Amino acid sequence: HAKGAGRNAFRFYTEQMNVDAVAHQHIRVGLRRALEHGELALHYQPQISLSSGAVIGAEALIRWNHPELGLLLPATFLPTAEESGLIVPMGDWVLQEACRQAVEWLEAGLPEFVMAVNISAMQFTRGDLEQSVLRALADSGLPPALLELELTESILIQDTEKVLETVQRLKSHGLMLSIDDFGTGYSSLSYLKRFNVDKLKIDRSFICDMINNPNDATIVRAIIQMARNLNLKTIAEGVEDEHLLSFLRLQYCDEGQGYYFSRPLPADEFARYVANNTQQLKLIP
Ligand code: C2E
Ligand code: MG
Ligand code: MG
Ligand code: MG
Repeated sequence: HAKGAGRNAFRFYTEQMNVDAVAHQHIRVGLRRALEHGELALHYQPQISLSSGAVIGAEALIRWNHPELGLLLPATFLPTAEESGLIVPMGDWVLQEACRQAVEWLEAGLPEFVMAVNISAMQFTRGDLEQSVLRALADSGLPPALLELELTESILIQDTEKVLETVQRLKSHGLMLSIDDFGTGYSSLSYLKRFNVDKLKIDRSFICDMINNPNDATIVRAIIQMARNLNLKTIAEGVEDEHLLSFLRLQYCDEGQGYYFSRPLPADEFARYVANNTQQLKLIP
C-alpha cells in the first residue's frame, strides 16, 4: 500500500512539475512578446517627504498588461524573467521608459522629483548596467541626480570586484543609490560605507507590524538612528495608516511610501496626484 501511495505521489509530483514547466514556458514566450509588442507598463508610486509632505520621488514598478489575463503584478512574471535572463532587456526597457517619463513630466512643468528604478541582481552580473544607465540618461536627457537605482542587499553582499567597481562607477556619474528591502537580507553592515549609497529603504515587513510588535519598532528606530549617524537618508516602505506615519515622523524617518499616500498609479494618474498633492497632504508638524 505504502509503495503504491509512494508511486502515486511520485507520479503526481512529476505531472505537477510538467504543468509548472509548461506554465513557465508559456510566461516566458509571452514575456518576450510583451517586451516586443509594448505590453509592459510602468506604474509610479509617490515617495513623500515626512517633514514637508512634498512628493520627492516616484518608484517605477513594472506591470504587464496581458492580452488575456489583464494587469499582472511583478510577482507573477519576474521569477520567470530572472530565470530566462529576459530581466536584462526588460530592465533596459524599464530604465529607458522611467527616464523618458521623468523628462516628460519635467517638461510639462511638474515639480522636480527623483525617479527610482528597481535593479535586479542579474543586471549586474549578466548585463552592462553602467552602459544601460548612461544610455537611458543620454537618450532622455534626464539629469543623473534625478535618477535613483534601488539595489538589494543580495547584490551588494556578492561583493565581487565587478559589483564594487560597477557601483562606484555608477556613483561617479552622480546617480542616487538606495538599498531596497533593507533589513531583510544580511546583517553584515560593513558594505554600507564601502558602497557609498544614499538611502536605506526600510522593508515593509518591519513597518507594518511596528505598532503592535515592540521588536519591529526597535529595529526601525535602530535603522533610522544608524542611518542618521552614517549620513544616509531613510525611507519607510508600506506606510498604510496615520499611526505608522506619526511614529515614523517622531523617529525622524526622512521619507515614506505606501498606500496611506497612494498606491502605485498609471502615469496619467500619478501626474494628477502630484499636481493635487498640496491639497491631499497635510502633515501636522
Ligand atoms: P519593491 O521594490 O519593494 O516595491 C514595493 C512593493 O510594495 C510594490 O509591489 C508596491 O506596490 C508594494 N507596496 C507599496 N506600498 C505598499 C503598502 O502600503 N502596503 C503594501 N502591502 N504593499 C505596498 P509590486 O509593484 O507588486 O512590486 C513587487 C516587487 O517587484 C518590488 O518590490 C520589486 O522588488 C519588484 N519589481 C517591481 N518592478 C520592478 C522592475 O521594474 N524591475 C525589477 N528588477 N524589479 C521590479
Ligand atoms: Mg523597490
Ligand atoms: Mg522595496
Ligand atoms: Mg519590499
